[in-house]
Amino acid sequence: METSPTRTDKRHRHSRVVLNRSTGKGNLDYIVDYNGSSYTLSAVAVMVKKTSKRNARSFTDCFKLRRTPLQRRPARTIVTRSQSHIRGGLFRRLPSELFDMILDQMSVRDLSIFSMVSKEVNGQVRAYISTLAWRKRMMNENFHHFVSFKQTFIVGHYKDLSLLFKRCTLLLPTKERLKFIFSKISQIPCFSMDQCELPGCLGLSCYGVFFQTLIAGWDRLECHRVFNFLCELTHLLKNIEAVLIERPGLKRYQERQIRLYCRHVLLDCWPNQPVKKFWLNLLLNPWPLVSQARLLFILYGPSCPDGTLNWHSLVEMELPRRSLWEVANAIHLLFGDTDLEDQSNQSMLTILEELIVVPQQWHVDNVARLLVLCESSLCYNILASKAINGRLFEVSRLLVHIVLVCEEDNYHVSWAVKLVHRIYNLLRTAAEKFRFIQQLESMFSMVTMEMLEFSVTGNNVGDRETLQSLHFFLNSTARFHAKLLQMFVR
Ligand SMILES: [Zn+2]
Repeated sequence: METSPTRTDKRHRHSRVVLNRSTGKGNLDYIVDYNGSSYTLSAVAVMVKKTSKRNARSFTDCFKLRRTPLQRRPARTIVTRSQSHIRGGLFRRLPSELFDMILDQMSVRDLSIFSMVSKEVNGQVRAYISTLAWRKRMMNENFHHFVSFKQTFIVGHYKDLSLLFKRCTLLLPTKERLKFIFSKISQIPCFSMDQCELPGCLGLSCYGVFFQTLIAGWDRLECHRVFNFLCELTHLLKNIEAVLIERPGLKRYQERQIRLYCRHVLLDCWPNQPVKKFWLNLLLNPWPLVSQARLLFILYGPSCPDGTLNWHSLVEMELPRRSLWEVANAIHLLFGDTDLEDQSNQSMLTILEELIVVPQQWHVDNVARLLVLCESSLCYNILASKAINGRLFEVSRLLVHIVLVCEEDNYHVSWAVKLVHRIYNLLRTAAEKFRFIQQLESMFSMVTMEMLEFSVTGNNVGDRETLQSLHFFLNSTARFHAKLLQMFVR
């Protein structure tokens, strides 16, 4: 800590004091001019690299204004309202207007670090960012019309703001902390679930980054409190209930808003899978399994270009892999680590069975593709559970279409062969095993006939797509049987 007078003019009773503190963690220059009647802050430069709470605690204590011999006590000083109750510490001795001028010069991130200097400064920064002027200056981004290179800047700005809110509320109890932060942030219309309809709005993405930064490192109990607080603030659960009790697609706009809000703010911002699973479970757990399947579709089902849900596409036609990718990932995230004997395996089966009939029974190729995308162990658990319960017809039909999907999506057919082999080994008696193989072969024959009939009847004669599907299927059948025979003969 150094304090050095740089210039003193006795005739005009003008003095300048430069305060400098360099701790190795940061550097602060502070120049105050006195012209005989009042103080003026002429320049402030703060470059804080990193300030830990431990180092910060003694900051104001060391920051004492030393009067030089050449300086004289001013004959008259202006005492503002804010000075009238000042006691101790340089920052408290400064008029709040002057202190605000110092804070004005800081970047958001520096301000966030500075707020951890002491309990006193923490409170002052909180008061400073509560002013309307500050909010207008710092939280007035245009989320709709921005040039692409500015997008990273805007998102980064909200990350810094989140750090500031997080740090300047460090000393408050969680409930007070959340109240303070969300009372400020919820005033932004684009951060709300029902106030901005513009597709391509960047608001919720920024909110997601803000939210993720805010609660990073908080334990599960605190995160649970945050979720409850958010639900109360935004009526999230009530909004979800309102769409779950209606027919799929009836409240298209509300469905879209729930999807956007939950995905951007609560789910997609987590790179860590267990954390994402925790938040997804928080959203799903309040509902019965049937509604959980519907909510999963709302959150991850295929959507139209305008962002509304494409409820009927899965029923009417075979969809490409990319349309089912997200819902398969969500199922894998929730149940990927469950065993066949686990209690949660039954929940998974129920949810899946409810999902594939939303809004009506899905096209069988879409079900098969979803199972393939859910990966080996999950796909096996689902088929094995059905096989144990004697649903061999259903298992065989799915397996035949899984073989076809493997051919279409360029997966190796041996993956499907291993799956058949595992289910075969799972069955206990020789009679059950024989019945399974018999059912599977009958299904190959049945599906071939269905495809052949479809290609030669109606308007499908010469239809290139239909013929191509038949070609794919016959090819996949040949490959599958070659591998299956190889496996059993060996
Ligand atoms: Zn918006």
